[in-house]
Amino acid sequence: MHILITGGAGFIGSHLSERLVADGHAVTVLDDLSTGQMSNLAALTDQPGFDFVEGSILDRALVAKLVEPAEVVFHLAAAVGVKLIMEEPSRSILTNVAGTENVLDAALRNNAHTFIASSSEVYGKTTKFPFNEDDDLTIGATKNLRWSYACAKTLDEFLALAHARESGLPVTVLRFFNTTGPRQTGRYGMVLPSFVTSALEGKPLMVHGTGDQSRCFGHVADVVEALCRLMATPKARGEVFNIGTDQEITIRGLAEQVIEATGSSSEIQLIPYDEVYPVGFEDMQRRLPDVSKLKAAINFRPKLPLSRIIDDIIAERRAPVPA
Ligand code: NAD
Repeated sequence: MHILITGGAGFIGSHLSERLVADGHAVTVLDDLSTGQMSNLAALTDQPGFDFVEGSILDRALVAKLVEPAEVVFHLAAAVGVKLIMEEPSRSILTNVAGTENVLDAALRNNAHTFIASSSEVYGKTTKFPFNEDDDLTIGATKNLRWSYACAKTLDEFLALAHARESGLPVTVLRFFNTTGPRQTGRYGMVLPSFVTSALEGKPLMVHGTGDQSRCFGHVADVVEALCRLMATPKARGEVFNIGTDQEITIRGLAEQVIEATGSSSEIQLIPYDEVYPVGFEDMQRRLPDVSKLKAAINFRPKLPLSRIIDDIIAERRAPVPA
């Protein structure tokens, strides 16, 4: 099959590209290398059936050209990470809304099965747990720009599902919960790689707020397995899925586990949100997915526990940098 992956030089996209090429598919990656990097695709650049195109999802003509031969599109390109969204909100909104519009417009022309990367952020401040795909979504005030990411992803979902309803476009919405593992960078505010780097350098692990907020972390290899199974499942078309695990840990607990796994002498430092983000920044206390729909559709249970994710990131950080 011919598959286009936007954002394929990024963290999830590069792992997915490797898997799909290994499964015998022809894969084209479109990426502007803003947060992704070529080194993520080092194992693929010489492989037959793999093609990399540097460019933006905001380039309508380029997107149309690359979608045309594709039977499946994984649209993962986006401005990602709370830190980046807070620093460059208008560019992030444009990328996450107009870019998706371009991809869906192009997919309509050849009826490509299009997977739209959404996020657990769309659940916003919902306090009904676990989060189910059919639940109401509760986001904060527009003056708090943090919610622009959730809103943009929500609009992406609406647009995809509207095309499914109006034109029969095969779409699947992927609401990713915290996905982590090797190649994820801590530069844009991703918590686990930042903790591992700090612990290995003997620096304090900066925990925002009280550290009592909890998250569920999934290994990127498990997530890629779920994506491949969804691709092969006709039942996934027209549907929204939570993608992740339902094993919760507080951020303080995560920091403690990283310190133990690295054998580091680092300490945990609690930092008030106001020192990191603009005053009034809101965080979610819990993000717990209901994964029963994913399990029912593809018989999926994540295999790799948090300890394995941490070990894999430590091993990557300790590996010698290639010359
Ligand atoms: P990532 O930053 O590693 O990947 C995003 C990729 O998109 C990068 O390679 C970047 O260079 C590329 N990109 C950004 N703007 C682009 C543009 N205008 N044109 C072309 N390429 C562009 O992040 P990731 O964690 O791999 O995220 C992949 C997708 O999953 C994103 O849509 C993100 O919103 C979603 N997501 C991820 C998580 C997670 O925990 N990793 C959670 C929720 C949602």
